[in-house]
Amino acid sequence: MPFAEVAVNAAAPLRQTFTYHIPDGLPIEPGQAVYVPFGSHTLQGIVVEKSNTASVARTRDIADIIDVRPLLSPVHIELARWLSGYYFAPLFDCLSLMLPPGFKRRPFVMLRPLASVEELPHLKLTDLQATVLSRAIELGETEAEELRRELKLKGAPSAISALIKRGFLQRSYRLARPQVAPKTVRHLRLDAPEAEALARIEDLRQNGAPRALRRALVLEALVDEGALALPRARDLGLTPAFTRDLESAGLAALEDVTVVRDPLAGRVFPYREPPSPTSDQQRAYEAVADALASDPLRRGKSTFLLNGVTGSGKTEVYLAALDRAVALGKRAIVLVPEISLTPQTVRRFAERFPGQVAVMHSRLSLGEHFDMWHEIRDGRYAVVVGPRSALFAPQPDLALVIIDEEHEWTYKQQEGSPHYHARRAAEELCSLTGAVLVLGSATPDVESRFRADDGNWGLLELPERLLRADDGTVQVGPLPEVDIVDLREELKAGNRSIFSRPLAAAMNRTLGAREQVILFLNRRGTASFVQCRDCGYVPECRSCAVALTYHESEEALICHYCRRREPLPVRCPECGGDRIRQVGLGTQRVEEEVRRAFREARTLRWDRDVTRGRDSHEAILARFLAHEADVLIGTQMIAKGLDMPLVTLVGVVTADTTLHLPDFRSAERTFQLLEQVAGRAGRGRRGGRVIVQTYTPENHAIQSVRRHDYDSMYEREIEFRRNLGYPPFGRLVRLTFAHTGVAYSQQQAVAMARRLTQERDRRGVPNLDILGPAPAFVPRVRGRWRWNVVLRGVDPVTLIRDMQFPRGWTVDVDPANLL
Ligand code: ADP
Ligand code: ZN
Repeated sequence: MPFAEVAVNAAAPLRQTFTYHIPDGLPIEPGQAVYVPFGSHTLQGIVVEKSNTASVARTRDIADIIDVRPLLSPVHIELARWLSGYYFAPLFDCLSLMLPPGFKRRPFVMLRPLASVEELPHLKLTDLQATVLSRAIELGETEAEELRRELKLKGAPSAISALIKRGFLQRSYRLARPQVAPKTVRHLRLDAPEAEALARIEDLRQNGAPRALRRALVLEALVDEGALALPRARDLGLTPAFTRDLESAGLAALEDVTVVRDPLAGRVFPYREPPSPTSDQQRAYEAVADALASDPLRRGKSTFLLNGVTGSGKTEVYLAALDRAVALGKRAIVLVPEISLTPQTVRRFAERFPGQVAVMHSRLSLGEHFDMWHEIRDGRYAVVVGPRSALFAPQPDLALVIIDEEHEWTYKQQEGSPHYHARRAAEELCSLTGAVLVLGSATPDVESRFRADDGNWGLLELPERLLRADDGTVQVGPLPEVDIVDLREELKAGNRSIFSRPLAAAMNRTLGAREQVILFLNRRGTASFVQCRDCGYVPECRSCAVALTYHESEEALICHYCRRREPLPVRCPECGGDRIRQVGLGTQRVEEEVRRAFREARTLRWDRDVTRGRDSHEAILARFLAHEADVLIGTQMIAKGLDMPLVTLVGVVTADTTLHLPDFRSAERTFQLLEQVAGRAGRGRRGGRVIVQTYTPENHAIQSVRRHDYDSMYEREIEFRRNLGYPPFGRLVRLTFAHTGVAYSQQQAVAMARRLTQERDRRGVPNLDILGPAPAFVPRVRGRWRWNVVLRGVDPVTLIRDMQFPRGWTVDVDPANLL
């Protein structure tokens, strides 16, 4: 087949491919990385398909191949095409997710002169060609761009082309400044028969001088090991003089050896026997194992939702399922939220599969990532563990994908194209490969639970928390008791401290027993809504059922979905009080308050400000686990699945902030967050207790947390979403325009909304709402004013499928929120 469809790494966002001609003799396969001419440039491309016919009359030739071996498998090409279509993203961006790290770069065109100065007069060149060629000869091998810049001559590009055609300049391609290369370390290698080296050692020993004896030691190590890394050889006493000596005697040579950068290297994890499963675990495991053993086309279900309360043994089910997949000779990918990639989690996987686990950590160096990508492709690891991007690891023989804490929104890529959700992409990957998908959570995403309820996915439940006895056996234990404290009552009683009386009393008791406390601060969207300090009333939009956002500059409340606008009320419409205020409180403030109220307590703060370094998450966690602090104060990141047995009290200082974010998922997300935080208490045998402070104790999400009642939260949410056509009953697309001009930004958004409305009406697309335009929740980001237009409907994508969006627009399909 003489033609290839190529996805090109162009500056403009392109969803389509381009047809190129395959020059004779160039071995091209789908998935291959190539250089292609594009306009006046040469760019990187990935061949997605070969064909017998070209879609255009004139095709250009593929310039060269970048890597002999195709970089992508047919499955990954298919997956990238699906991502590009589903998420409206440039195809090359989608392919990039699956390419080796650091691949995406701009290629340089290099020119090498093939004639000498002496030959120049005899070559029958035009004046311009002669000038170009003589300059090229002076420069030696040079970049084409640079040669053009140097000459500053009109017509230089065509002169260069002519010289190439006539064979006086040779063209080749190179990738710009490779940021990544395999890491090499210089080694001293034995380069002669062992007998010769042994004879030399004997001589040195005979000599007996200290210097000679040191040299004998180095040489002995070299004979034993065959090669020595230079740093180690130097430690043993290798000097530059002796190196030269050995080289000139032909005994040893220096060479660069590629080393593999594995973050688990150096850590030894002995194999750990699995515990015998509980009957619930066994049932869940068997469902997955059956699916693994059966033909993908014939099996009942390929996707399972493992809904188990915090500490119910979900991870053990994952491990058993992984064991099964490995026993069948297959491989797996496990996704965890980035924050869970602590040694605690990693160890559990590494202990069960010693030496067979690859950990993809976003804080690995590019080089470490690069090495790992290649090793994974070569089938070196049974299990790949990592954050959402690990889904695209080139894991061969994939039979099982596990997504832990599947409700987490870190699985959705929000910045950068494509805006994919790893769960949705995993479904697609699994259907392409026949792999089984297991999604686990204590608080499943409402949409996931809906898919399990309507029979599309299998539902596996672990309703009971397990407590481990000292002898290693397990018992079923209660979930921690949750008390709701009404902060309005505290105010009435004259308590203005951030600690309610019940929380203060519980903290005193816990600290007195030398146990640990976690104080959780729900901080997202702080100070963006207003609330009545007397009755807890929060103004909401009547048509969108979301909290109104307070815009300080305009002293107004604005609905971020429909743009309804209201003045800030002076009096509360519920209770008539005059204390309507902004809401907000930070971790630093809480830490100060703890120190003031509990003088003996040692505090530790865990938030984004203090966890910037490579290991500081681990460091903070380790310090708290070692009981170097009594009170841990933190935000969202505290909520993740960490096991801290000494924690017997969790205090939620403010539960309400996420509740009133102007987003339809705010109740669901508040429930998930609080339930996960509550799950941190009572992991040990000492039991545990949770105190939630709130101004809206009657809110259904808060009440559901009190009873650990996922189902009632779910029922409420489903009813609300059915009524308003939110997911899972409808789908959403958020279009965002960002521009430095405040008025321009608004105009563009208004024009887009009008255009979409006209298009909808003209085509008669049913069941499609166009919401907005409205300013984004954070109206200005990095100097750009942001406006949103939201499409809500059964199939909102049909409306925009063939549209080209001008610069400045981003399209987010199935957005994480409507902020
Ligand atoms: P989850 O992933 O649901 O939070 P884990 O798998 O971490 O739960 O289990 C909670 C605790 O119970 C862990 O310490 C785990 O080692 C232990 N555990 C789980 N299943 C068993 C079992 N069948 N026998 C003994 N201990 C178990
Ligand atoms: Zn509204």
